[in-house]
Amino acid sequence: MKTMNILIIDDEPGMRSGVVKTLNGHTIAMPQFHEEIRFSVTEAETGNAGLDQLRETRVDIVLLDYKLPDILGLEVLNRLTDENIDVLTIMITAYASLEVAVSATKSGAFDFLAKPFTPAELKASIQKAATRLFLQWQAKQLAEEKRQVISVLAHELKSPINAVAGYLALMQDRVSGDRLDDYGDMIGRSLIRLDGMKKMIMDLLDLTRIESGNLKRTLDNVDLRQCADDAVMGVTPDAQKRQITISLDAPPHLMIEADTAELSMIFNNLLTNAVKYNQDKGRVRLLLAEKDAHVQIICEDTGIGISKEDQKRLFGEFVRVKTNETRLIEGSGLGLAILKKIVAANDGEITMESEPGKGTTFMVTLPKKQAGGEPA
Ligand code: ADP
Repeated sequence: MKTMNILIIDDEPGMRSGVVKTLNGHTIAMPQFHEEIRFSVTEAETGNAGLDQLRETRVDIVLLDYKLPDILGLEVLNRLTDENIDVLTIMITAYASLEVAVSATKSGAFDFLAKPFTPAELKASIQKAATRLFLQWQAKQLAEEKRQVISVLAHELKSPINAVAGYLALMQDRVSGDRLDDYGDMIGRSLIRLDGMKKMIMDLLDLTRIESGNLKRTLDNVDLRQCADDAVMGVTPDAQKRQITISLDAPPHLMIEADTAELSMIFNNLLTNAVKYNQDKGRVRLLLAEKDAHVQIICEDTGIGISKEDQKRLFGEFVRVKTNETRLIEGSGLGLAILKKIVAANDGEITMESEPGKGTTFMVTLPKKQAGGEPA
């Protein structure tokens, strides 16, 4: 629930109390954003008193009477512009003349309300203003998120570049002598950092393609069991290095209508994490099951687990849990964000349960048939 502050500037006490009564605590829904907005109303009797409030506190929408005892509503509007006070203005006027409307619009008024108005008319006008404001807030938030993504990305790419540049400089100075064999460790570390960087760039490309809708989806009848088998094979070498066992519990065939590449991404992300964030000699259990018109993919591990606090933010972009245990594990923090977007594109659901020190379980539910889609 978000709150928008409304200020009514009007010298008629009856008008002010009517607005307060109609709007204080009134809520409107923004269903497309799963958000609700409530209003909190304050009052001012004169133009100057209103301007003082606007200077001192955050006001989102001002209901401004055209004719005030000290200065005209138009003058208030002009001062708002001069002083760079960002607020959406609804002009209240008894003289609904074209001339007034033109000059108020020129001075930046967003809407008009002709006196006398009913509570329903007031609510409709506020709904229009609140929707506009809310969209502006959303756009601002999006721009801020984009800025953050770019700054995290720059930071994440800078650190491997610095590390590799450091190793190359040491090699150039021949710090360990002239034999190439003596630089094996530095070369190995450089390759690991470069590999991490490459993975991050690939993840980022996947994510932007999914977000822009440019990732071409080809729906086929796919055997989920086969996909799971292939993904298990893919992570087995890494698991074996740390004596982690992976078991697959699934019917011999489980057909679903989906894009094979997307299913592979789901399995790879789940299994790679279940291995990466596991203890040595740990276990990973992958379960596939059919449930009515859906399939369930459950990936359980006996790994380091994730605290309740971190669980809330894990599906965001570039989110990585920073603890002593994860310090040396390479990753982009994009895998779960990608997973979530793919699952959403399939009208599915992803949930998780985890206990630090015990392990983590991810549960993905996908429809067996895509809504409105015929297999290719
Ligand atoms: P990363 O590339 O860092 O692995 P992900 O988006 O796949 O990025 O995961 C985000 C973070 O969530 C990881 O950095 C890790 O801290 C945590 N995480 C993901 N899966 C698991 C898991 N199975 N067990 C413990 N922590 C996990």
